[in-house]
Amino acid sequence: MTPHLNAPAPSVTTTTGNKRQWLYPRVVKGRYYRWRTGVAWVFLAMLFAGPFLSYNGQPLFLFNILERKFNFFGVTFWPQDFYLVAIGLLVFIVFVILFTVIYGRVFCGWICPQTVFLEMVFRKIEIWIEGDHNARRRLDASPWTTEKIWKKSAKYSLFFLVSFLIANTFLAYIIGKDALLAVITDNPANHLVGLTTILLFTGVFYAVFAYVREIVCTTICPYGRLQSVLLDKQSVIVTYDDVRGEPRGKKERQTDTSTFYPLPIAQSPTPKGDCIDCKLCVQVCPTGIDIRNGSQMECVSCTQCMDACDDIMDKIGRPRGLIRHDSLDGIQTRKPWRLTNRMKGYSAVLLLLMGVLGFLLWSRSDLDTTLLRAPGQLYQREKGGLVSNLYLIELVNKTHQTKPVTFRVDYPGATLRMVQPITKAPADELTKGMFFILLPEKSIHESSTKLTVEIVSEGVVLDQVKTTFLGPVN
Ligand code: SF4
Ligand code: SF4
Repeated sequence: MTPHLNAPAPSVTTTTGNKRQWLYPRVVKGRYYRWRTGVAWVFLAMLFAGPFLSYNGQPLFLFNILERKFNFFGVTFWPQDFYLVAIGLLVFIVFVILFTVIYGRVFCGWICPQTVFLEMVFRKIEIWIEGDHNARRRLDASPWTTEKIWKKSAKYSLFFLVSFLIANTFLAYIIGKDALLAVITDNPANHLVGLTTILLFTGVFYAVFAYVREIVCTTICPYGRLQSVLLDKQSVIVTYDDVRGEPRGKKERQTDTSTFYPLPIAQSPTPKGDCIDCKLCVQVCPTGIDIRNGSQMECVSCTQCMDACDDIMDKIGRPRGLIRHDSLDGIQTRKPWRLTNRMKGYSAVLLLLMGVLGFLLWSRSDLDTTLLRAPGQLYQREKGGLVSNLYLIELVNKTHQTKPVTFRVDYPGATLRMVQPITKAPADELTKGMFFILLPEKSIHESSTKLTVEIVSEGVVLDQVKTTFLGPVN
């Protein structure tokens, strides 16, 4: 935690000793909350629609880790493309780090599925059934009346239903929509693993959103723990302007509001800052912290405290932004934000990685070929002064169209004899075959001759693979 220089000691914690303090965040209204709601709806629509939409007959998104087949925007990636997935992952991680160094934990508050589901779905259900923070607190403290039983049953039933929907969507991302449909509609006895997985996921999501909640962000999530390493005094975070806000306290009614900000506190006739210590920023915080205590690891940058404080500033006639997006340096020095050398370094690495990824995606072949000499075999002498080697070939057609294929060997006098003929590479499939390559013995001058095999479709060379040919040395 980086404390503000003028702020008093911390006053609010989310735990009491070792006992967890259950949070009842107050309902918040404001421009940031409206924008977050809009972002959340777009995110939720994309998340739930993702596995059910298709492009070119392929699912828009599929992360089939069981068959190691991935679809991004309808393009299929095979295990052979693993290096692309690895580089893509690396770009993503660097992007997240860079973004965090510059903008703090915006991802957590605005895009992270944990926050989006908790604050925009489960919390809304809770508020709809149980009411605002005080009503929820009173309900939890009250004895088990009919009303309490009814409200709790309704809330947790809806929680379970939403968790079940999320679990189904989650599984659809892994096994695909058709397989999911089969699990749901077919005889349950045929899909015990699928049904158990759905129930298991449902249980995990239910536990996370009904009970674990903000602990995921404050304690479990490794990204949250990285904050102390990634953030520095130039990072733009949700922060309280203690220069302007302190000393905090209730204000006496006065007509001349210019006695506050921007006059320095020492010159002000009433030596009070703009913070009226209403604690609304604390009451709306979903992780239960007091942003006035400085930058804290528990802050998920949800901006709810900004909305709450802006509302108060409007009411007392002070400028908005006592809690705002700014860097700690910006707050203390009042200097405009600038890119640091660390940020520039991260940006350069990110651009480089994106360039490499773009090039690899652009130059990715439609066909992937693996050619191996049959293990344990040397060469065979054949009629007509020929020598043969046996090869195993695997073709992965990464496109969504079946391609007719032929093979040719780029070596003088070489011929190819199929054992398991391959005439086509079916769309999105792996095809296996076997063939002999035959060379005239007199053209062999090394014990291991280098050859190139070309895979041709309708006159176009789709792929080339290098191999070696074993033979007697002349
Ligand atoms: S909402 Fe604003 S005025 Fe109220 S306690 Fe928080 S910082 Fe101070
Ligand atoms: S301190 Fe503000 S931005 Fe941070 S989690 Fe709490 S309400 Fe959200």
